Amino acid sequence: MKHNFGAGPCILPQIVFKEAAEAVVDFNGLSILEISHRSPEFVAVMEEAQELVKKALDVPQGYTVLFIQGGASLGFTIAALNMMRQTKKAGYINTGTWAKGAINEAKAVGFDVDIFASSEDKNFSYIPKGAAVPTDVDYIHYTSNNTIFGAQFHEIPDTNLPLVCDMSSDIFSRPVDVSKFDIIYAGAQKNLGPAGATLYIVKDEILGKSTSEFMPKYLNLKNHSDKGSMMNTPPVFSVYTAMLNLRDLIANGGVIAAEKRNQEKADELYGEIDRNPAFTGTVPVEDRSNMNITFLLEDDADKAAFDAAWHAAGIVGLKGHRSVGGYRASMYNALSIESVKVLSKVMRDFKTKKQ
Ligand SMILES: *Cc1c(COP(=O)(O)O)cnc(C)c1O
Repeated sequence: MKHNFGAGPCILPQIVFKEAAEAVVDFNGLSILEISHRSPEFVAVMEEAQELVKKALDVPQGYTVLFIQGGASLGFTIAALNMMRQTKKAGYINTGTWAKGAINEAKAVGFDVDIFASSEDKNFSYIPKGAAVPTDVDYIHYTSNNTIFGAQFHEIPDTNLPLVCDMSSDIFSRPVDVSKFDIIYAGAQKNLGPAGATLYIVKDEILGKSTSEFMPKYLNLKNHSDKGSMMNTPPVFSVYTAMLNLRDLIANGGVIAAEKRNQEKADELYGEIDRNPAFTGTVPVEDRSNMNITFLLEDDADKAAFDAAWHAAGIVGLKGHRSVGGYRASMYNALSIESVKVLSKVMRDFKTKKQ
């Protein structure tokens, strides 16, 4: 039994892996991989997946749920193109690699981007606060969880302008007030399902309002919405597995219970990092992420010994992103508290051995 702390693609509940595997072999007599996406069986899967997203996040009336391909990386472009209005200016918060990716794509489609808040001065180790939010832009964009550097927004930025968020690495980990957003997008492969589908939760009002002259058919959210997310072949297996995962999430108390479990796991690991003189956290307490926990060894000379210790305990995926170094424990919904306790014990024992 391995304990998977990988950042993504990542762990899903074992029952979901099992049910998905069964459907690959036999889904009403055929494989889920060979059925027509236009068949009534798959249309029912797509509709249930969309309904379960709405149920899990308490999505209000007036929003559409879509599953599109291209990952969150294409979401950067799709969000910008679909939100383009009169000013062709957009306000972005720069909290690291993914936020920068989104900024670059907004520029690429012709926006003048106002980066009104940034944590670049300290290698993205915190969430910038208190910046004046621009008022003369088409929309504001931020990245709710900083997957690579381990900082997370615990408040939604305050603005009356249309708000767009990349929630790839913390969607379904906690409740969210969807009514504050015009577009939420998230690659499936962190808390939702296998890579392939990208989730969009879109306010109906914004559909078809883009002023962009460049608008390929596939990038226009209105076309996907008009066709019930079936404009072309959807990522069938990814949507099916996401549906299974959402059923499991809701059966286990939904996002409210998930948030509680995630808090308990985060408390367990941050507690050990703070207590143990061999380790230091990289993010100030108030900005710490409950999904991706980054930490360093106090003494780099301990690296080989610590790496051997966690490998021996069956832990995988703990190595920090190359741009930060150190360690990153990604603790998505499906990672159990037992796995977190295995890691915190390795850290505790490691310190004891050192003394
Ligand atoms: C993983 C990640 C992405 C990239 O997602 P792809 O689906 O691989 O394009 C973008 N944003 C955030 C916040 C991420 O965690």
